[in-house]
Amino acid sequence: MTIHISHAIIMRTWEFGETDLLVSFFTSDKGRLKGVAKGARKSMKRFANCLDLFSPVKLEYELKRGRELYFIHSGKLVHGFPGIRSDFSSLSLASYMAELTETLFPVGVVAKRMFELLNGSFAALNENKNIDELRVLFESKAMALGGYGIDLSRCCNCGRLYKEEGRAVFKRKKGGIACLKCEKESRNSPGLGPATVKTLRMIQSTPWAKAQTLDLTKEMIYEIKPVLKLHIEYRIGQRLKTSEYLE
Ligand SMILES: [Zn+2]
Repeated sequence: MTIHISHAIIMRTWEFGETDLLVSFFTSDKGRLKGVAKGARKSMKRFANCLDLFSPVKLEYELKRGRELYFIHSGKLVHGFPGIRSDFSSLSLASYMAELTETLFPVGVVAKRMFELLNGSFAALNENKNIDELRVLFESKAMALGGYGIDLSRCCNCGRLYKEEGRAVFKRKKGGIACLKCEKESRNSPGLGPATVKTLRMIQSTPWAKAQTLDLTKEMIYEIKPVLKLHIEYRIGQRLKTSEYLE
């Protein structure tokens, strides 16, 4: 059996058997995986801190014959993020980010950009960056990376190119925007100003390193939030369990 070594982020852990832990982790090179850490609850030595939630780690693991499950041999903590676990809002948002990622990315789908996004977002959360802004950045990017980017290029009804002049209206069933001739703004079809559309387009298309430097105004965050809420609920077909702790 081949032993793999990957940079990974711990997404979730469950008690497993008498002394083991089942671990969901997102690797930089193999996507999201699941593994068993034998005896992790009995002996703290072998896995000292390296299975802490949301922490970037370096894991050594090997495939269990004929299954999707891996044996985690050992691990090394790269960064501890104590700031996430000591603040309820940060912890809630981190849990939500992990659940959204698990919903968008099936086990074994390689997604290096998603790994960068998780790693960067958890690091920013650890430093107590603006929670509302981080949520908007993460949701927009995660949806785009998962194949559900919002189409901001043209009106989804008449096909007219959107030239970033005047307001646009979000249409959740189309996953895109409509022009004001085709659609009125309402609670279920919220409006977006031209600067907001431009910024959202940048967030969706640029890597995390650049997206995180974008300056989002309060107005932009206020406009994007309801759009993302409708978009995620419609595309995923459910409300995520962890989202109730965010409001
Ligand atoms: Zn139109």
